[in-house]
Amino acid sequence: TSFGFKEVPEEEKSRLVGNVFSNVASNYDLMNDLMSGGLHRLWKDRLVSELNPFPGMKHLDVAGGTGDVAFRILDSISDVKRRAMQDVREDDLQEQTKIYVCDINPHMLNVGKKRAVEKGLGEEGSLIWVEGDAEALSFQDNSMDGYTIAFGIRNVTHIEKVLDEAYRVLRRGGRFLCLELSHVEAPVFKELYDYYSFSIIPAVGELVAGDRESYQYLVESIRRFPSQEKFASMIVDAGFQKVEYENLVGGVVAIHSGLKL
Ligand code: SAM
Repeated sequence: TSFGFKEVPEEEKSRLVGNVFSNVASNYDLMNDLMSGGLHRLWKDRLVSELNPFPGMKHLDVAGGTGDVAFRILDSISDVKRRAMQDVREDDLQEQTKIYVCDINPHMLNVGKKRAVEKGLGEEGSLIWVEGDAEALSFQDNSMDGYTIAFGIRNVTHIEKVLDEAYRVLRRGGRFLCLELSHVEAPVFKELYDYYSFSIIPAVGELVAGDRESYQYLVESIRRFPSQEKFASMIVDAGFQKVEYENLVGGVVAIHSGLKL
């Protein structure tokens, strides 16, 4: 692909593309806060409380980016441990928790690794950063207690492949959870949301990241993503049971879940 840099020599091209990736990665957390007015934090908290993490769990967070979901899972496990200390033998809490953060973009993972060090998280080896594609995971069949994907499935090429892979790596009884920007139906709210998405988001993208086009693309990709009902039926088709979803903020985002039984 040309990336639109027609007259630029090869080395210059890869430098420019590299810059774009690094820019996105280092701006990513700030942009999330700006675009969602900080709400993405509450949505991720909700996702993790739905997951009900436990000490010793093997969990895979796909499209995990800079670690937001993984950090919350570890925090939640520390809380469970603290509460359990009184009435459980220490031995029962020793089992090694493993939280795998898988992402296709190494720059995002690098930002995540730095954040983990700053937070003092995962020092005992419970956080593992893996570069990989959601459509073809490197993990074994039936190896995970949980699977999460937050704001990641919308941008993949084949949603079905991602769901099949999620089903494959989960053990029986394992839980699939997906947090994604979804569809708003309520009349007046829908118009306000459309205005916000098509006018304000690209403008903020230009102002803060100097990149209107990427943010325009982001908004279009939200509109192209299947409706809540349709996406739920795709999760069923991948083999999951007890599939349900919860709308947050009238469907601005939805949390879909399913069980591998
Ligand atoms: N889950 C993080 C969060 O909620 O803060 C990051 C979400 S970010 C919007 C989307 C992430 O998906 C990016 O880090 C991108 O690199 C990753 N991604 C895109 N396509 C992917 C794929 N096929 N496999 C794995 N990760 C992918």
